[in-house]
Amino acid sequence: MPFLLDGNRTRDEILAECRPRIDAFRAQHNRAPGLSVVLAGNNSASEVYVRNKTKTAGSLGMQGETILLPESVTTKELLALVQRLNSDPAVDGILVQLPLPPQVDAPKIVLAVAPQKDVDGFQPINVGLLSIGRPGLRPCTPAGIIELLKRNGIPIAGQNAVVVGRSNLVGKPMAMLLLHEDATVTVCHSRSRDLAAVTQTADILVAAIGRTAIITAEHIRPGAVVIDVGMNTVTDRAEAERLFTPERLAIFDRRGSLLTGDVHPLDMARLASAYTPVPGGVGPLTIALLMRNTMEAAERRMAAGA
Ligand code: NAP
Repeated sequence: MPFLLDGNRTRDEILAECRPRIDAFRAQHNRAPGLSVVLAGNNSASEVYVRNKTKTAGSLGMQGETILLPESVTTKELLALVQRLNSDPAVDGILVQLPLPPQVDAPKIVLAVAPQKDVDGFQPINVGLLSIGRPGLRPCTPAGIIELLKRNGIPIAGQNAVVVGRSNLVGKPMAMLLLHEDATVTVCHSRSRDLAAVTQTADILVAAIGRTAIITAEHIRPGAVVIDVGMNTVTDRAEAERLFTPERLAIFDRRGSLLTGDVHPLDMARLASAYTPVPGGVGPLTIALLMRNTMEAAERRMAAGA
């Protein structure tokens, strides 16, 4: 039986560790750590993510605020808002929810966030600090995956890790974090030749692609640890039949859709020694690491006398 890497449990552990530190921060500084989440436009998935983020911040005793902007917002308006949040002493963490409306120059906005408040870890200063292995705010999803592996006693040092996907948000920082944990890291992408031959070398396989169940039995070395970052919605009944157990198929039939990852769930359960389910694997970690980043950003700013 493969071992299920339970993201909900790791999330709860991380949040439980944050609570006393947040209480200590409040007692010392007479205010709660503050997280400002900026949401521009009407993306319903983003609305759910943002609501969860500020709600979790509030439940931990942090000051969470959501700033809603219209779909028509301009780069100039968003830059002005980011500058205001940068200089607000009560704001410790700034998160500009991506994707932004198409007319907005997103890289310019990411660049404008003060590095010490960049709780997403996407600002180029933090990307550079990650690259050279210096302390900084790390991207939440890959940092959460490292926590999940460590807390479940999965060895990383010396292991062959293959990351499929090279996005700035997930794939690249994932590869860098695994490298800092002394894994031997290979990064694959849409132009990689013979993907299965490469992924078959993986002791730890991370799929961050965004394509439903594209990683199948031929890609998974028996006994590998498989981390499925993908979040894709299946709506087609024939595809659901190919992917799900009868129990999950019954849920699919009730709802008309079901979330699934980049890895074929039946192949993964059959071949992996340990794996993250979708949902309940990687998803819950992102928000936990966001809370930890916000708390650490607050602690560091106060320690630096900001
Ligand atoms: P992205 O920016 O679209 O990047 C996808 C990567 O996959 C790219 O590097 C692309 O290669 C590669 N790729 C696409 N097709 C491929 C193929 N056939 N073979 C090999 N590689 C292929 O996506 P992302 O932001 O990294 O997100 C990836 C997935 O993770 C999405 O499903 C997203 O929803 C999910 N996600 C989940 C969480 C969470 O909290 N669970 C957080 C973030 C993201 P090229 O570079 O060559 O185009």
